[in-house]
Amino acid sequence: MDPIAESYVKLVLSVGRLDPDYVDAYYGPEAWRTQAEAAVASSGQLYFQASGLIEQLAEISKPAIEMEALRHTYLTTQLASVRARLSMLKGERLTFDEESKALYDAVAPTHGDDYFQQIIDSLDPLLPGDGTLIERWEAFRSGYVIPPDKLDAVFRTAIDACKERTAARLDLPQGERFNLEYVTGKTWSGYNWYKGGFESLIQINTDLPIYIDRAIDLACHEGYPGHHVYNMLLEQALVHERGWMEFSVYPLFSPQSLIAEGTANYGIEMAFPGGERIQFERESLFPLAGLDPASADVYYEALQAVEQLSYAGNEAARRYLNGEIDAGQAAELLTRFTLISPERAAQRVGFIDQYRAYVINYNLGQDLVRAYVEAAADTPEARWEVFAALLSSPRLPSSLAVD
Ligand SMILES: [Zn+2]
Repeated sequence: MDPIAESYVKLVLSVGRLDPDYVDAYYGPEAWRTQAEAAVASSGQLYFQASGLIEQLAEISKPAIEMEALRHTYLTTQLASVRARLSMLKGERLTFDEESKALYDAVAPTHGDDYFQQIIDSLDPLLPGDGTLIERWEAFRSGYVIPPDKLDAVFRTAIDACKERTAARLDLPQGERFNLEYVTGKTWSGYNWYKGGFESLIQINTDLPIYIDRAIDLACHEGYPGHHVYNMLLEQALVHERGWMEFSVYPLFSPQSLIAEGTANYGIEMAFPGGERIQFERESLFPLAGLDPASADVYYEALQAVEQLSYAGNEAARRYLNGEIDAGQAAELLTRFTLISPERAAQRVGFIDQYRAYVINYNLGQDLVRAYVEAAADTPEARWEVFAALLSSPRLPSSLAVD
């Protein structure tokens, strides 16, 4: 499979020339990048190349050893996704569900408005006061914004805590490190840019006020045991130890992203199981941010209820990308059913414009990873083992299925 893997890397790099968001990370040989950049190819020519590689791979029978079989499935599935992205770049129109299946190897469940309205109705008694539920939630939440001058101290403390808890459970590579930057003018709230050599650049977007709960969310998600750790373990276990070069490139719009986002989100519960998160925030982050620690419990109770609305974000994206509603209506739907401010809804629609069906990777990914880990292990120790093995393996969404 090695020659096919090398061709796959060069193909992904070539797609990156047509689609600037496509290559999220690359740390393989510089000569491969130069070659890919020099070979000018159209989406049609690259589509043809992808088909050729898929055919070559189909001629190799699936190996008996599990890791080798996962590699075979990984290359087959990733190549099918590259080809689907190329067909989109050629102008083919896919529905939201067709796109998520073709690019991410998964389809998110569909929910009607009634489903979300029931959750909204159950929230009502949690948020007393005047005004609509959205107004009351906004007013309540505004008391939990991290003051800008406290942002760096809160984030560094949160990342330290996530790292400490992760390092206690799995071996982090020697010399691993990250840089932290604050940026503006982005459609996302945080980003991990993996540089290779066990180094990441973590960026936090400060366009909108950042709520206190986002510190642990982003610290775990972008850092430990999320994207930074996932990328490092893939590099260590697959690129260095096995020489599987296909893992030196990370195509963003591919099934690997469902595993990346799903493990990054589920990693928050891994690092802070049960009540440990609220306890840490109450004792450490709330005082650092100058917020009242006594109100942490009620804040997290409300937040947990609102989180049940996450699939409304997929629904807005599905209807918007299917052309059933326009951008303004999508923003309205997001405000109504995920209870975010109009400013945040506008940022969210910008994200959907840029990343499209990618939105399913966060919540569906988290649910699939949770089901996979929890079906395989029922103690914290065993769960960390399954989780670490997942972060170091070529497993993709359709290989996560549990009975
Ligand atoms: Zn992410």
